[in-house]
Amino acid sequence: MIEVHVGDITRLHVDVIVNAANQHLAGGGGVDGAIHRAAGPRLLEACREIGGCPVGEVRATPAFSIPVKRIYHTVGPVWRGGNLGEPELLASCYRQCLALARRENMRSIAFPAISCGVYDYPPELAVEIAVEEVQAHFDRDTQPQTVIFCCFDEAMAELYRQQLDAYVRR
Ligand code: ADP
Repeated sequence: MIEVHVGDITRLHVDVIVNAANQHLAGGGGVDGAIHRAAGPRLLEACREIGGCPVGEVRATPAFSIPVKRIYHTVGPVWRGGNLGEPELLASCYRQCLALARRENMRSIAFPAISCGVYDYPPELAVEIAVEEVQAHFDRDTQPQTVIFCCFDEAMAELYRQQLDAYVRR
């Protein structure tokens, strides 16, 4: 099941929330800042112990004060025009998060619009990749069974809805 939700990802009742982190796992602005604020300072300590995460990969931590089971920190690509592997790296973020959720037996996972904030990825292109990767997951697997695209605003949610409709009509 795929859902589109508008609101703050830290408030969702799911097993996993995905953080659009940076390579240093150092916390920051945007969704990363919101997750660190809600989880509390122990999250930064856990991230420091891990040390960092390459672009396109994922690292997991506990969620501390956020009432979910896990936080998956993935590092999206910075948009530099699209010819530097950005689409493949963004797809890899979604793929690796879904694969890890499956290995950890997580039933539900919520993604923010990875790279669509300060990393400047064109939202239409990012949403296409996100939907493609999640659909590909459901072609192969049944777990995690619920995937939520959590958007901060209605305009982004509308992009996901359009893309999901387009996918169903293909
Ligand atoms: P990136 O560095 O990967 O671009 P950002 O955090 O700057 O990550 O932005 C990613 C997306 O997350 C943007 O669409 C932004 O509007 C959205 N966002 C910001 N805060 C939250 C939040 N609390 N919950 C869900 N989405 C959020």
